[in-house]
Amino acid sequence: MSDSVFSKIISGEIPTDFVYEDDQVVVFKDINPKAATHLLIVPRKPIATVIDLEDEDQELMGHIFLVARDVAKKMGLEGYKLQINVGEHGGQEVFHLHVHLLSKFS
Ligand code: AMP
Repeated sequence: MSDSVFSKIISGEIPTDFVYEDDQVVVFKDINPKAATHLLIVPRKPIATVIDLEDEDQELMGHIFLVARDVAKKMGLEGYKLQINVGEHGGQEVFHLHVHLLSKFS
């Protein structure tokens, strides 16, 4: 079990408004935005990093990117950056896998 801040957000221990949620992922605003739009797409499954992905997570990872596409489309974003920081050497600070969605437009 992960006890990261994102697990607490997913469990409701840390109250957070979700931009989108379903049975596999939640999407919420980054608390320290680095762009006009800065969302985090986070699987409910507490996978620490990309390094820890298992073959069975293939569908989940595909779902994460389709959710990114759909949320961005709903927000009217025509372009954006998707970023995954992997491990301490990759600049990852929260060890619960997540995808950053960044856009200079909001
Ligand atoms: P990373 O460096 O890829 O692990 O990114 C972690 C991100 O989580 C950072 O951009 C933080 O600003 C963000 N973050 C940390 N705590 C919270 C929180 N409680 N709510 C929303 N975003 C958070």
